[in-house]
Amino acid sequence: MNKSLRKAIIAGNWKMNKTRPEAKELLEAIKPLVADAKDVEVIACVPFTNLETAVNVTAGSNVKIGAENVHFEKSGAFTGEISADMLTELGVEYVVIGHSERRQYFGETDETVNKRTKAALAAGLKPIVCVGELLWERECDITEEVIARQIKLDFFGVSAEDIKKSVIAYEPVWAIGTGKTATADQAQEVCAFIRATLAKLYDQATADAVTIQYGGSMNAGNAAELLSKPDVDGGLIGGASLKANDFSVIVHAAVNG
Ligand code: PEP
Repeated sequence: MNKSLRKAIIAGNWKMNKTRPEAKELLEAIKPLVADAKDVEVIACVPFTNLETAVNVTAGSNVKIGAENVHFEKSGAFTGEISADMLTELGVEYVVIGHSERRQYFGETDETVNKRTKAALAAGLKPIVCVGELLWERECDITEEVIARQIKLDFFGVSAEDIKKSVIAYEPVWAIGTGKTATADQAQEVCAFIRATLAKLYDQATADAVTIQYGGSMNAGNAAELLSKPDVDGGLIGGASLKANDFSVIVHAAVNG
């Protein structure tokens, strides 16, 4: 596998954290720290209320802004939801879809992940689609079945051209926010399996072009080892993305990875 075929992408997932002034302060701190990381796509995925502030604060910098969810309909009677057009109109470029917290607490299914992914792509947003097994599923030795099923369903009907615009985040659910990181070998094994699954569904060239991230308690201390693996092209970072220095260390680990 040739890592140079794809861009390293480090994305922070702020979850439900930061008011607007706090978001401004954090982004102002991150910007100069990552300004030299030209070969890495640096993204902050922030709560809906922070998007406009975040887009303004990062204008002219190499930090891109993402949302944490998107609805699949263009408009209508969907109280509390936000459409892809509403996001692009703000200058948002990325969106996290199917995060395990959305699957666990908000009834997200592979079918709705698929609909959201297609809606995002149709509007010109780049989806960061999260997949990952539960601890129980890993213990039952069905990790590959779970991941293959999620990849097939989440990208059902997505063209080869469009999947190249998508990012896949492998996030073992047992490693998210728990401090338990998958070992670099475990992360590599599943990221390589995702690429092999894409090669079967599309073709090898398409699979080689898709950025696959690892997410799950990635931090300043373990990022370099995880990102050194041939199929781990980046990271989706929760807790550590809320600390400018730690986030910057992870971004620079991707420069060297
Ligand atoms: C996440 O929210 O996607 C995540 C990986 O969280 P954490 O880094 O805190 O485990």
